Amino acid sequence: MNALTPQDTIVAIATAPGRGGVGIVRLSGADAQRIAAAVLARPRPLTPRYAHFSAFVDATGAVIDEGLVLSFPGPQSFTGEDVVELQGHGGPVLLDQLVKACVAQGARPARAGEFSLRAFLNDRMDLTQAEAIADLIDANTVSAARAAIGSLQGAFSREVNQLVGQLVDLRIYVEAAIDFPEEEIDFLSDGRVAGDLSSLVAQVNAVLTTARRGSLLQEGLTLVIAGRPNAGKSSLLNALAGEERAIVTDIAGTTRDILRETIQIDGLPIKLVDTAGLRESEDVVEQEGIRRAWQAIEQADRILIVVDASTLVDGELPPLSELLPSAQQAVEALPVPITLVLNKIDLATEMSSAEADVFCVSARTGQGLDALREHLKQVAGYRDDAQSPFSARRRHLIAIEQALQALHHGQQQLLGQAAGELLAEDLRDAQRALEEITGAFTADDLLGKIFSSFCIGK
Ligand code: GDP
Ligand code: ZN
Repeated sequence: MNALTPQDTIVAIATAPGRGGVGIVRLSGADAQRIAAAVLARPRPLTPRYAHFSAFVDATGAVIDEGLVLSFPGPQSFTGEDVVELQGHGGPVLLDQLVKACVAQGARPARAGEFSLRAFLNDRMDLTQAEAIADLIDANTVSAARAAIGSLQGAFSREVNQLVGQLVDLRIYVEAAIDFPEEEIDFLSDGRVAGDLSSLVAQVNAVLTTARRGSLLQEGLTLVIAGRPNAGKSSLLNALAGEERAIVTDIAGTTRDILRETIQIDGLPIKLVDTAGLRESEDVVEQEGIRRAWQAIEQADRILIVVDASTLVDGELPPLSELLPSAQQAVEALPVPITLVLNKIDLATEMSSAEADVFCVSARTGQGLDALREHLKQVAGYRDDAQSPFSARRRHLIAIEQALQALHHGQQQLLGQAAGELLAEDLRDAQRALEEITGAFTADDLLGKIFSSFCIGK
């Protein structure tokens, strides 16, 4: 148990919103058993991990539903606390009443992710595993789901922990050298430190490569799709997705806001951000939409500019700056690479440009779409058979890159024969970055380990 461990008992519906055969309300906390007993028509002792059939009642004794009660006493539960599941029928009104009945008995409605947070605080899982649960649920493809289950089962953490273990050993060696100044030079120049460092760099690089693949499967490629109304943006993304169209999410808002959709191309998730129209405007709401569009562009991997080729005169391709709908920003200043798509090529002749990748397609006839799909997979660095033993997020990639940077810096310190303290600092930074991934970073752990190691024989 941790000082941060919350004491109150939380409750929430664990199953997806909507109607279904079964719906589950989950309680977690010290009072879970008492609260569950209070909503049973006839209170009785709950045998751990045994399904009891019962009617559920509210505070007035009125029957809400009937179903199964399952008790998972801590610490052998998902959160590490006492957990009780009430499995009723999957109707939103029933489940809401059940939650309210639990709240009336003293439970608090759980915040988003709070069960997983408690599982993390109680050491039931580390951060990558907690994140993997969300990634598993969000996975849009089989490959992404497989990678996420790998992380949930600890594949990513094991790699990171193994690297951290080696870093700690190296730090102990270097810190020992610092403690004996008369021998420091020998310690650091005996070749072991340099050898261990370059081996670590190679291993961290390997983990980074795998993590990049895992992140690509999960997060895919983010594309901003821009172009004048009627250029064929919607038709194009329908045609690109083909039968693999996975999810259509229209973020609520005005038509001037941006729309997000996710399609997949041969298993590569592609997040499309449809900007409502980049043009100059006096309208305040529209200006806000444009501001968001530019924000989306800055966060994207690439911008897809769709042009109605049939509107171009004489098969002449104007400069890019004229194709971006009244862009208030120079094309050269765009923070992401551009792919130009000349749509409706069934009504026009093919053209090319020296300024950008150009694809002549017809969303209507399908002409040129295969080449565009291959191009998108290629810029994402995606192969059809892509698999990853674990999923990863941008946060993890950044942390691994930071660790790598610290190690490279350490190598330079060593080459420049800088003081051992400076190398020790780089190693500490690298370890801290890696431990941010699993959430294990605490200075005390490390001090303890170094201290106990130094005491031996000294
Ligand atoms: P958006 O406003 O950019 O999303 O454009 P839409 O996808 O709604 O398409 C506008 C119009 O162009 C529709 O009538 C489409 O049927 C038509 N259209 C889209 N793509 C093509 C194409 O490749 N060829 C032809 N001939 N018409 C197309
Ligand atoms: Zn459209």
